[in-house]
Amino acid sequence: MNYTPLSNEQLIAIANEFGTPVYIYHAEKIEQQYNKLKDAFKGHPTKIFYACKALTNINILKYVKSLGASVDCVSINEVKLAIHAGFDKKNILFTPNCVDFNEILEAQALGVIINIDNISILEQFGNKFGNTFPVCIRINPHIEAGGNYKISTGHIDSKFGISIHQMRHIERIVKKTNLHVRGLHMHTGSEIKDVNVFLQALDVMFEYVRNFPDLEFIDLGSGFKVPYKDDEHETDIVSLGAKLTHAIKEFEAEYDRTLEIWFEPGKYLVSECGYFVVKANVVKQTTATVFVGVNSGFNHLIRPMFYDSYHKITNISNPQGAERIYTVVGNICETDTFAWDRVLNDVREGDYLVFHNAGAYGFEMSSNFNSRLKPVEIMVKDGKPLLIRKRDQFEDLLRNQVEAF
Ligand SMILES: *Cc1c(COP(=O)(O)O)cnc(C)c1O
Repeated sequence: MNYTPLSNEQLIAIANEFGTPVYIYHAEKIEQQYNKLKDAFKGHPTKIFYACKALTNINILKYVKSLGASVDCVSINEVKLAIHAGFDKKNILFTPNCVDFNEILEAQALGVIINIDNISILEQFGNKFGNTFPVCIRINPHIEAGGNYKISTGHIDSKFGISIHQMRHIERIVKKTNLHVRGLHMHTGSEIKDVNVFLQALDVMFEYVRNFPDLEFIDLGSGFKVPYKDDEHETDIVSLGAKLTHAIKEFEAEYDRTLEIWFEPGKYLVSECGYFVVKANVVKQTTATVFVGVNSGFNHLIRPMFYDSYHKITNISNPQGAERIYTVVGNICETDTFAWDRVLNDVREGDYLVFHNAGAYGFEMSSNFNSRLKPVEIMVKDGKPLLIRKRDQFEDLLRNQVEAF
């Protein structure tokens, strides 16, 4: 498919029209990522659930649905947003962690697919529903993977999933309560570049599949890496598709049934589609450093401060300017560094800077810290910029506050 990233001119035109800071999402990039994943697995029944916590704007949900995706939700409100976006309940997977049993009951009443990640919930669910409401079980295989300890979920101290070491107890509960187990799930972390981690996960699953006669699918979660730095590469999806398809076909031949493969990509689908455009408020030379202070902060894009993550930054207002070294900071009254020692084309006050790869966990993790307003969101589709969320207004800061005296 022909895909061209948004040009500096397009980004500048949007920043001029809608103001900054502004999150811009390029629909065609989401489509390209979705199709890459779909094509890599066309040799086997596969279902792709968009992990919507990465970016839940209702237009993004509708768009992803129009591509043919299902959706993975981690809270009951995400489930309700997905229903609002038009997803069929059989294409909504609910994968919560440490929620109240009532939230599980609510999801059950809505009829979506439930992924249980806790022995006590499994027991309560089994006692209540027996074999009347099939479920999926989230296993923690204790495979170490992922870019950063905070985003890796498979390690021994992780709160996610039911430990693979408790499999015998899972089986006892399933037997006693007559629970109908449709699927086994694992999600080992984020930013997994090595395709073999997924093969390893599948192998671990295969050991237990035989114990669940009604199994329809194996859900391998997500964790596909996308490149943030110029010298990084995304998870090799083509090779992943070929290797996993081969492994599962071999297994199926022996087991004499088909198992769908499910995935739950978040970042992979929506990271690269996103551009976060800010304005350079000040260029501030101190004794040690040249700072660029922009009209945003970790209240709008927390990943650098929270995960030490790297976002490529470019000066789209002066792309031919001489290269200089800057530390890019925000306007929040707390250490608020987006990037140290970055080479940028000469930055003048008023220039637009772009953070690339800002679609996933960008706007979604934003806040009103320092009583600043959340940015506007734009979706570019067929070359046209569509307003998909208005910038916060001052009144939004007071909404829900009660002046009690
Ligand atoms: C966050 C999450 C995902 C998506 O992870 P990405 O790294 O964004 O692809 C998938 N599944 C579950 C259960 C998650 O919690």
